Amino acid sequence: MFDNLSDKLDKAFHILKGHGKITEINVAETLKEVRRALLDADVNFKIAKDFTTRVKDKAIGENVLTTLQPGQLMVKLVKDELTELMGGDVAGINLSGNPTVILMSGLQGSGKTTFSGKLANYLKTKKNKKPLLVACDVYRPAAINQLHVVGDSIGIEVYSEPENKNPVEIALNGVKHAKANGFNVVIVDTAGRLAVDEEMMTEIANVHKALQPQETLFVVDSMTGQDAVNTAKAFNDRLNFDGVILTKLDGDTRGGAALTIKSVVNKPIKFVGTGEKMEAIDVFYPSRMADRILGMGDVVSLVERAQEQFDEEEARKLQKKIAKNEFGFDDFLTQIQQVKKMGNMKDLVGMIPGASKAMKDVEIEDDAFKHIEAIIYAMTPKERSKPSIIDVKRKNRIAKGSGTKIEQVNQLMKQFDQMSKMMKMMQGPGGKQMMKMMGK
Ligand code: GDP
Repeated sequence: MFDNLSDKLDKAFHILKGHGKITEINVAETLKEVRRALLDADVNFKIAKDFTTRVKDKAIGENVLTTLQPGQLMVKLVKDELTELMGGDVAGINLSGNPTVILMSGLQGSGKTTFSGKLANYLKTKKNKKPLLVACDVYRPAAINQLHVVGDSIGIEVYSEPENKNPVEIALNGVKHAKANGFNVVIVDTAGRLAVDEEMMTEIANVHKALQPQETLFVVDSMTGQDAVNTAKAFNDRLNFDGVILTKLDGDTRGGAALTIKSVVNKPIKFVGTGEKMEAIDVFYPSRMADRILGMGDVVSLVERAQEQFDEEEARKLQKKIAKNEFGFDDFLTQIQQVKKMGNMKDLVGMIPGASKAMKDVEIEDDAFKHIEAIIYAMTPKERSKPSIIDVKRKNRIAKGSGTKIEQVNQLMKQFDQMSKMMKMMQGPGGKQMMKMMGK
């Protein structure tokens, strides 16, 4: 995410970190590099210039040259300013009203339908809501089907009227259906066009007027850079929407949209989409994003994700098994699957402070555990629970069965062995002490 911008900012700060004595010239040079980095990230000239002016004023105000670590202070000033630029505080979603009506707007292909599903799934699983999806795209029958497919995949009902060509009617009927059937959130997916046009704007404005939604969300593809900002402006002028959803942040996006949308339309980014799967949705936290852009990682999000997957009962069972020396490959598999649920590897690495930079040139496979899983699946239940019986003959069979090489099987066995030993050690008196020190 925003690798290029992160890289350039890192280089900009290098100027300050490298010098024994910092001069005004060094600071000015750094700020010039910061501005260049922002422009390269597709931030418009005025915003980039105002940004560096504000950082410079603060640096003068805080006497940056006389502080012990001017480099660090500058990083902090830039971080604060980035956070402000992206909206400052986190913006929640308004769930008042019964049902809460949420209207989705945006261009075709921006990820509206996908995000409607993600949001429904998020509200169902994280907020205990009972959402209904409503398909209001009257032009493309495929769009209605797509929403049904999405709804089916997450167990959420979809309301549609394939024969009806009036989106306002469908939307209102959808809300009626929700009221009559105990749904407390209605998410209305609308038709998009490839570019802003009057007909589409009038249509969405009519739906908006008739529905009077609690939340009108504008969905935009972050890969489109400055275009994203212009489209946001056009939609906001017409709908006065409540928040922005930035999709496709998992792609090779430069960051301009995330950095400038707030200051152009003065509406917060509420969620981001980070993949095609239904789970790839994140609440947008400006300060955490600033941390990530500056290569400081995002430990808070990482811990939160780990906690979401953490099952106390399972952990207790696991501890017992380790104590009794019964930790086997099935348990290992469960652990891997829990880590996988936390998100894709690239995303996770980006959350570890310093890791994105250190691993910049390492190709991280999205499915880094593919081989390990295949090897474990090729084992018999007995081999999984009692790995010590796996001899050379069995290893050969497992390698063949999993389409891997015997070296890979050996490597996994070795890793497993080391991990088991380490876990056993953690259980002992010394380990307990260590856990205490780590605040567990
Ligand atoms: P709509 O026309 O606005 O409803 O857009 P869709 O929901 O059909 O999305 C268009 C394409 O973008 C589809 O192929 C989606 O799978 C993909 N997509 C949507 N959101 C994301 C995202 O956050 N990341 C990635 N990589 N792809 C996405």
